[in-house]
Amino acid sequence: MRRRQLADDPRITLLTYHGVAAPNFEQHLRWLTARYRVVPLAEAAEWIRGRGRDEGRRVVITFDDGYKSFYRDLWPLLRKYRAPATLFAVSGFIGTDRLLWWDLIESLLRRATVREVVVRGQRWPLDYAALVAHAKTLKEPDKLRWIEELRAALGVELPQATGTEFELCTWDELRELAADPLVTVGGHTCTHPILSRVPAEVARQEIERDKAILEERLQRPIRFFAYPNGRATDFNDEHVGQLRAAGFECALTTVEGVCGRGADLFRLPRKNVGGRFTNGALACKLTGLWLSVG
Ligand SMILES: [Zn+2]
Repeated sequence: MRRRQLADDPRITLLTYHGVAAPNFEQHLRWLTARYRVVPLAEAAEWIRGRGRDEGRRVVITFDDGYKSFYRDLWPLLRKYRAPATLFAVSGFIGTDRLLWWDLIESLLRRATVREVVVRGQRWPLDYAALVAHAKTLKEPDKLRWIEELRAALGVELPQATGTEFELCTWDELRELAADPLVTVGGHTCTHPILSRVPAEVARQEIERDKAILEERLQRPIRFFAYPNGRATDFNDEHVGQLRAAGFECALTTVEGVCGRGADLFRLPRKNVGGRFTNGALACKLTGLWLSVG
């Protein structure tokens, strides 16, 4: 009975990946495509909106930020398994040599030759998680200043993204991806600020310019958005209004959950999939949520 209930559950799970190696992703794809229908985000949004039929177990695959590894290593696998995915691109970093701020911290730490560092009078061990957690507590422009002070205190040069695992797609690569019916490109702001940590006007510009730049560069409508960082405290009603006004149709968070019919289209939950997840862990993530929510 329970098995039947699970099989018939029409809710849709949006999966989010941040970094995953190709062999592991292929295992996930093989497992997922054998058990679920992997559907485009547009189909999921239609169903959540109340259109379309209940069609069994469905998942949507999403990736944030727009790393080159998606283009180079994972897109060929999506094609092999005919699995659609959505890529949310940080438009201001696409085609540049710049590192997203958390990757910048990681790159600085890899270059460092000391065991601890003092920034603004505070002593820090070279602990990526602790430094990133602290950076997330700072307001946006100050966060970047603090990271620059960290770099200076470590005495290392400003690293570049090119040739590293942190490199993002070029515009040509993103255009190629967007031209594939399997791939949907969505907005993720121009520079990846946590929206609730910048003034409303800055947030509005980040949202509107991102959509305009992606549409201009890719020559297609950009309908979907993912909040940077994406926790419930990282955005608010004002940002939802800005996204609606800009013409976005839905927005994805990093809040854990599944999407039922009638879910708030501008606060869609996702399930985070770790890059090192075994198929068993992936199964727990997917079935566990049905048992816990249902
Ligand atoms: Zn992101």
